[in-house]
Amino acid sequence: MDKIILLILDGLGDWPIGQFGGKTPLEAANTPNLDELAKRGICGVMDTVDIGIKPGSDAAHLSILGYNPYTEYTGRGPFEAAGIGMEVLPGDVCLRVNMATVDEELAVKDRRVGRIDSTEEYARLLDGTEIDGVKFMLKPGTAYRMGMVMRGKGLSSKISDSDPKLVDQRVKKIKPLDDSIGAKQTAKVLNQFLELAYAKLKDLPSNLQRINEGKLPANYLLTRGAGIYPDMVPFQEKWKMKAVCVAGAGLYKGIARVLGMDVIDAPGATGTATSDLNAKMRKVIEVLEDYDFVFVHIKGADSLGEDGNCTGKKEFIEKIDEAVRPLLDLQDTVIAITADHSTPCESLTHSADDVPLVIWAPRGRTDEVSQFGETACFRGRLGRIQGRHLMPILVDKAGRAQKFGA
Ligand code: ZN
Repeated sequence: MDKIILLILDGLGDWPIGQFGGKTPLEAANTPNLDELAKRGICGVMDTVDIGIKPGSDAAHLSILGYNPYTEYTGRGPFEAAGIGMEVLPGDVCLRVNMATVDEELAVKDRRVGRIDSTEEYARLLDGTEIDGVKFMLKPGTAYRMGMVMRGKGLSSKISDSDPKLVDQRVKKIKPLDDSIGAKQTAKVLNQFLELAYAKLKDLPSNLQRINEGKLPANYLLTRGAGIYPDMVPFQEKWKMKAVCVAGAGLYKGIARVLGMDVIDAPGATGTATSDLNAKMRKVIEVLEDYDFVFVHIKGADSLGEDGNCTGKKEFIEKIDEAVRPLLDLQDTVIAITADHSTPCESLTHSADDVPLVIWAPRGRTDEVSQFGETACFRGRLGRIQGRHLMPILVDKAGRAQKFGA
């Protein structure tokens, strides 16, 4: 039986770009190693959740890893919290937090404080706050992100977000999303906490100093993705493989932890566009000794797409290409490279477009695709599949599939 490496390049898919002569960033990038994998393997395109569905990263990952996002997804918060190593108990409501900048009218000026690189100070300031018997726990995540866990009796995750998702819009009041007492109480207490947090952050000496230096102050918590810790069949039980995750960004470590995978940090792999991808790949090859399945996540292309930085995305893809070079020498290993969704840099957000997929297995068929790109892969043997098909294909390619029937 072979081992499997699944490399997810977050937000990789894109649209044709004028400045690249109608090619996508992936097609315009110089990618000899990804192209070599396409040549050796079989290609296709994939709708990670379903055709026409614009997936969130979390739902897309669940689907790709063989879980049904329609029935098993409970919100992003629990993954973020688990990803940064927060202790979570049944009944806790977990939320995603962006540290943001608002003006005096509470209109959002920057949803990420100009991509501030640490929220340590603000998490420490607010961690442990109690309101009405509800305890708020906060921990810094990657860059401008934090995890928040609300612990108390009868809480509900059926609450709205404070994040308006757009700049120059006022932050939103948290509203209950159903008529339950729990949802009403959770919304009320969270609104109180967000007001209290704003009052504390606004006058924080380090924020006043940031303003003096012409920087944006980190003065508001944009919350979203409230969810209760989900109960899922562990990956190892489902696919009969010992699995590990190598990722920089918290969300993906969290998904892996919730699915019972081990999570291993690669030094210098930060989940940002400056992440040390070579170090990450060295770690992948190192851990392959001890595991059957390695899930590797690289975030940068998605962030650059969201920033509208087409050239940056293309250059980052070239860095990925260099980093995957050692994978070409592996023996007895199935390698799959794909994305969780497209993040076209002209749309600044996710799109429902299918994503390119290449699978290289030591044995089996090939096809005529010789370039890893959105258009080229569409002509490959795998055709157009859905995310839920990927794990069965990989398990089969690795010689691990059980026969259906006698
Ligand atoms: Zn994503």
